[in-house]
Formats: sequence, structure tokens, C-alpha cells
Amino acid sequence: LYPKSPTILWFRKSLRIHDNNALLRATQVASQLYPIFILDPYYINPEKIGYQRFKFMLECVKDLDKSLRKYQSRLLVFYGEPVTVIERCCKAWNCAYLCFEKDTDIYSRNRDKKVLERMKELGIQCLVESGHTLYDLDILITKLSGQSVPTQMTGFLKLIEQVGPPPRPIEHVPTIPPLNELGNVDCSSVPEIDDIPGYSEFSSECNTCPFQGGESVALERMQQFLKREDWIVKFSKPHTSPTSFDPPSTTVLSPYIKCGALSVRLFFWELKRVEDSHSFKTKPPTSLIGQLYWREHFYLLGYTTPNFDQIQGNPICKPIPWEYREDWFLAWERGQTGYPFIDAAMTQLKQWGWLHHLTRHVVACFLTRGDLWISWEKGKDTFEKYLIDGDWSINAANWMWLSCSAFFTRYFRVYSPIAFPKKYDPQGNYVRYFLPVLRNMPSKYIYEPWKAPLKVQQDANCRIGKDYPFPIVDHEEMKKRNIQRMMQVFQK
Ligand code: FAD
Repeated sequence: LYPKSPTILWFRKSLRIHDNNALLRATQVASQLYPIFILDPYYINPEKIGYQRFKFMLECVKDLDKSLRKYQSRLLVFYGEPVTVIERCCKAWNCAYLCFEKDTDIYSRNRDKKVLERMKELGIQCLVESGHTLYDLDILITKLSGQSVPTQMTGFLKLIEQVGPPPRPIEHVPTIPPLNELGNVDCSSVPEIDDIPGYSEFSSECNTCPFQGGESVALERMQQFLKREDWIVKFSKPHTSPTSFDPPSTTVLSPYIKCGALSVRLFFWELKRVEDSHSFKTKPPTSLIGQLYWREHFYLLGYTTPNFDQIQGNPICKPIPWEYREDWFLAWERGQTGYPFIDAAMTQLKQWGWLHHLTRHVVACFLTRGDLWISWEKGKDTFEKYLIDGDWSINAANWMWLSCSAFFTRYFRVYSPIAFPKKYDPQGNYVRYFLPVLRNMPSKYIYEPWKAPLKVQQDANCRIGKDYPFPIVDHEEMKKRNIQRMMQVFQK
């Protein structure tokens, strides 16, 4: 049906060669295949995308380039507006096809709309394949027969039950044609982060993330977890520890899935294989497969709900009258609230670019309905900047959840920044690791150092108010006040 012609394969998220529908399609139609990656100025902004996140993404890009080189091909890297870059490339290489994977977040949808329109004008055929989610979200939408997407997990599980299991991953990597003729096109090879304008001034002190990006690391990491069959079949999300960090108590596959360095369908079917060989297994939504369903559900909601990442114009988000206090927000963001668990978590966020799910819960609750009464939109932006797994729909959905703006209504359940971590880590090892200033504080005071007598503070080499801040708010007082406020919102 499709005569072979020069073809561009535009890598955006699916930074892998395994189970890649767009790659498969491209190899089927290409007489000459041009794999490209565009460094879009929209993303090159350290105010928006933090160092760790950018570095992790570039590591994935680099690993992809390495894989393509095994086939005598390579990744051609461009800087610039995607529409302009693609148009230039199509003309230079005389391309008939442009292949890419479907993206569903709002920026990507608008970007792709522009690209699709321009390609139509130029007579270039776009072949768009689904692959970043378990299901093609447009197919799930047709199954809704005009009804809106369920906001509860039970409704979502019913929906996918109707559809059946997701498609299986592609079994083999297709043969990728060698790249011979480049013509007169100005492209570069994959840059180092220090070569990227805006990021070069960060010193190597920023190299604090223990996770390396790339498809090969992702596949290896997944394989290591798959060996732990007993752990997989007993996995139950609420029973993993937020204070474990060496190693963390969950898979930390999220950054790889986010960049598409790991195919979510491959991970799903590998988990299914393990589950099927055991009679006992936990069930969605708490099982590991259940976690992938949360992802899918939030992607579908993000795709179909207008203004999903904000309060205004978002039909599923309660308009809670948040208030903004810059000093409190900055204290939270900078890890200076005086609550060691919150501050350790915010330090981990910046150093690692990753936090355990329940740790995300605690800091999100603290910023919003728990203590500071600041809008979830502010917290979402901070997470978006620093998380190496920062993912538009999952991030917004979870922030709405934690702030009781959508999905979750038990506003009287507030996380204590003291009692909650103490349950998992009475010695405070997590705090001591991420906040070295509190390293010598006795365990009795590790979560409430302001209660330590002056002599104890002096012996621990940490005087409160000088070396580490006093709490910016009284948690118990704030909690009571904010529950009252939430009650009023819910009564309305
Ligand atoms: P595992 O427990 O090993 O789970 C396996 C995979 O399931 C994850 O890699 C992830 O892809 C998916 N998953 C797990 N939990 C969730 C969840 N609650 N919602 C959707 N998918 C899930 N996750 C992101 O990937 N990107 C984000 O930007 C993000 N922002 C969040 C913001 C807040 C306020 C909260 C509370 C949670 C957020 N999460 C986000 C969800 C969750 O915390 C992470 O996916 C998880 O902690 C990643 O660690 P893991 O890979 O070890 O997870």
C-alpha cells in the first residue's frame, strides 16, 4: 500500500528500539531512514526543566543513538522549533513519510497539530502510532460510547475489562536500515548536558542523581526486578516504605517509562507472565500491574479532561480557595520548613529527581490542605521541574488527589510530618542521609529537633534557628484550621 520512500522517524518519548511501533512502521515504508531528535527551545529552560531531569533525558537519547549505531545508523540531533526543523529536513531529504509515536499531553498535542497541518500542506504523509500507553487511548474513548471517563479506578477497571488485555509488545527489533546519505543538513550528534545553553553553568555538584538514563539500563533494571517473583506477586503499594533509599522499596522504573526508554507494554506482559505462574498474587489497584493501571487511567483522564493541569476550567477539580504565601512556598521548595522529613524529601527531590510515592504524598499534603494551604498548581510545577519521571497527566492527577481537589475526599486524613515517617524509620536514617546538618541529632528529636534541649543541640552540632530552621508553622494548629476550611468547601 505504501511505496517505499525516504522517511523521517521522529523520536520524542519512545527513546528505545524495543517494542517501538513507530520504528517498526518507519522501517516498513523507508527506502532511506532518517532517525531524528529535536531539542525544542520550549524545553530548554532550567527554570522549567531542572538539571537532573534534562540530564536523564539526554542519557536516554545518547543510549538510543548508541543502539542505532549498531545498525550503521545514528540519531540526528537538531535544535529549533519542531515544525521548522521537520520541514527543512523533509525538503532536504525529499521525504514522503514522517513517523512518530502518539503523544497525549497538552503541549505535545498542540505541537503535533501544527506539524500535521504543515505536513498536509507539503503533501507528506504522517504515520502516527500508539505506544506510550498500554492501550491506544483513542480506542478506549470509543468504548465509552460518548460517556465521560470514569474518575474512579473501579470504573476504569470495568472499562478495560470490556476491551480485554493490552496488545502484546513487538517480539523483535526490526532491522534498521543503515544511514548513508545526509545531504546538506546541519545537524549534530547527541550533546552533553554541559553543552546545552542554560545548563552549562551548573557545576558537577549537580551530578547527584543515582539513576542513569537509557534503554539498556531500563531493560537491565526491569530484568533484575523480574527475578524477584515472590516480591512481585506480593507487591502491595501501601506496604512499601517511603524512607527506604538504599535501595528504594519500589522499582524506580517510572523515569524510564516516562521517557519511553522502557515500553510499558513490555513491562506489563512481563509482570503478567510472572503473575500467571503463581497461584497467589495481589490484585489491582495495589499490585504492580495495578500501578500501571493508575498510570493508564491518569493518562486517559489527562487526554480527555479540559485544562487538566490547572484549576480554572477543569471540570473535575474543586475550586478550593487556596492562598499564596511566598515565604512559605519558598521554604517548602527549598527544604527549609523546619520539619526534617519534609526538608529531607525536598532535598532528595532535587538531588535524585525521584521520591517514593508516599513521600510525594506527605510533601504534597503539607503544601496544600495539610499545612500551608497553597495551591496544588504550585507544587505540581515544582515536581514537573525536578522529577526525572515528571509526567504531565500523572503529576497533575496525583496533585489533585492529594489536595482533595479531585478523586479523594477524606480531607480529615492529614499526614503528620512527624508521626508518619517515625513509623517507618524511628532512627531517622533517611533524614540523616539527606540532611547532614541533623546527622548527629539523637533519634528522640530527629523529627522534632526544636524540642531538643540546647545542650543536646550543641552536642549534635546543630542549633535550631541557626544551623537548621524552626518550624515555619505549627502542624497541629494548621491541620485543625485547614480541616475546618476543607469542611466548608465540601459542604458547599
Ligand atoms: P512502582 O511502585 O514501582 O510502580 C511501577 C510503575 O507504575 C511506575 O514506574 C509508574 O510508571 C506507575 N505508577 C506507580 N504509581 C503510580 C501512580 N500513583 N500514578 C500513576 N502511575 C503510577 N509518577 C510519575 O511517573 N510521574 C509524575 O510526575 C508523578 N507525579 C506524582 C506527584 C504526586 C504528588 C504523587 C503523589 C505521585 C506522583 N507520581 C508520579 C506517581 C508515583 O509516585 C510514581 O509513579 C512512583 O512513585 C514511581 O516510582 P516507581 O517507579 O518505583 O513505582
